[in-house]
Amino acid sequence: MFRLTGKVAVVTGGSRGIGRACCEALAEHGAHVVINYVRGEQAARECADAIIAAGGTAELAAFDVADTAATETALEAIIKAHGKIDILVANAGISIDGLLLRVKDEDLDKLWHTNVTGSITCARVAMKSMMRARSGRIIFMSSVVGEMGNVGQTAYAATKAAVIGAAKSIAREYAARNVTVNAIAPGFIDTDMTHAMNDQAKEAVLKAVPLGRTGSARDIAAACVYLASDEAGYVTGQVLRVNGGMYV
Ligand code: NAD
Repeated sequence: MFRLTGKVAVVTGGSRGIGRACCEALAEHGAHVVINYVRGEQAARECADAIIAAGGTAELAAFDVADTAATETALEAIIKAHGKIDILVANAGISIDGLLLRVKDEDLDKLWHTNVTGSITCARVAMKSMMRARSGRIIFMSSVVGEMGNVGQTAYAATKAAVIGAAKSIAREYAARNVTVNAIAPGFIDTDMTHAMNDQAKEAVLKAVPLGRTGSARDIAAACVYLASDEAGYVTGQVLRVNGGMYV
């Protein structure tokens, strides 16, 4: 089950955290993985080396998903080189937290361009290849807060809710082309993004998790492999919540 042999997968923000775990898990299941990164070249290279050492195949692609022209050029080059993109994991994202009255205009723009425009741009380019192939998988990385909201995360949560709206719309538009589009909504996952939180905030979040622990990037990667697989062919327009029961 869940064999991805012969598939070409692009994972944005793939050099660390959830993205890296998705890269490794997709490669473990046989996909050739294109690891996108924007700054962490060393980390991206380490991810590729780990995949190759484990018997898989991977390559790097540097582009900033918030730069639409650069993203289009890079993804078109990947399609030209491989003839296709079978799986897109639009994972790249940033968080900038702050109470509503302190939300800055420039932060709103930054969050929107990276988390929403970046994800939709990647989907738009990948879809051209998927339409031709009459098959494809697009996975957007949303968040538990996109559905439940959170104090201090108005701007970030809004982008993660937007990604769900985009996933559902694209799912409806391209179902007839046999392309499935879903969102994963991770809960509190142990990565660099959550390491930035102070201990008090972490403790408060953990109290709201019925399974009583943080999730790991591997927990999210497992959901990603499932949604990317042939076995998930009848699943589209869904939000797969991987959150330890934090929001049900
Ligand atoms: P992370 O900060 O470790 O990783 C984010 C990755 O995205 C990094 O590699 C970063 O370089 C990349 N990135 C950021 N801006 C980019 C850009 N403009 N172009 C290309 N790449 C860019 O965080 P993570 O926890 O691994 O988060 C991955 C995704 O999961 C994000 O979309 C995040 O919002 C989402 N998420 C995380 C959690 C969590 O608890 N960690 C919970 C819910 C959702």
